[in-house]
Amino acid sequence: MTIKENYRKIRKEVPDDVTIVVAAKTRTLKEIMEVIEAGATDIGENYVQEAEELYKKLGDKAEKVRWHMIGHLQKNKINTALKIFDIIQTVDSEYRALNISKRAERIDKKILVMIEVNIGEEKSKYGIEPEYEKIENLARAISKMDYLVLKGIMAMEPYSIGEKEQKAYFKKMKGFYDKLKKEFNSVDTLSIGMSDSYKTAIDEGSNMIRLGRALFGERK
Ligand SMILES: *Cc1c(COP(=O)(O)O)cnc(C)c1O
Repeated sequence: MTIKENYRKIRKEVPDDVTIVVAAKTRTLKEIMEVIEAGATDIGENYVQEAEELYKKLGDKAEKVRWHMIGHLQKNKINTALKIFDIIQTVDSEYRALNISKRAERIDKKILVMIEVNIGEEKSKYGIEPEYEKIENLARAISKMDYLVLKGIMAMEPYSIGEKEQKAYFKKMKGFYDKLKKEFNSVDTLSIGMSDSYKTAIDEGSNMIRLGRALFGERK
């Protein structure tokens, strides 16, 4: 199947209220053009520089989609990131949130943010510990920052685990999400589920999935 067919097939399969974020890392301009032509509305990037290059090369098409930062955001890249991204999904500390907020204020741009949770408590991954109190504290701090709008929470489950384990992690995230939503009006998004896990994630309440390989095939 072509990228266009893959996208359209998955778009048809998943419920309308589930946003598909295309994980663009390592993909070519041609591949990204194709997926946008197929109707993709949201592009996720792991690297600011890659996003910047892609944004420029896409021309008019770049403005037709929403841009999500889904990788670790370094402090020295925040200014550039703010020019491109509509949503930063990887906020994992008050310090990082404050740095983003200060720079957003300078350019008078409100930015949507999500709290990244290290759901599998893996050393190799970023994110806040999977404890509600910690998530809530960070959410409170963010909600006091004038230029940040808290949109939800995001997690990347560990690789190569079975469906049962995926389910358990996703249930935990759904629990955090439900509590957070009650406390913070702006919260409406639970970003969980990737190529190997999106069906399970949707069953467990995800309304934002992030797909790379399911659309484009394996990464080289
Ligand atoms: C790469 C990546 C994805 C997509 O992974 P696939 O397994 O290719 O679907 C989703 N989220 C994040 C944060 C990623 O870095």
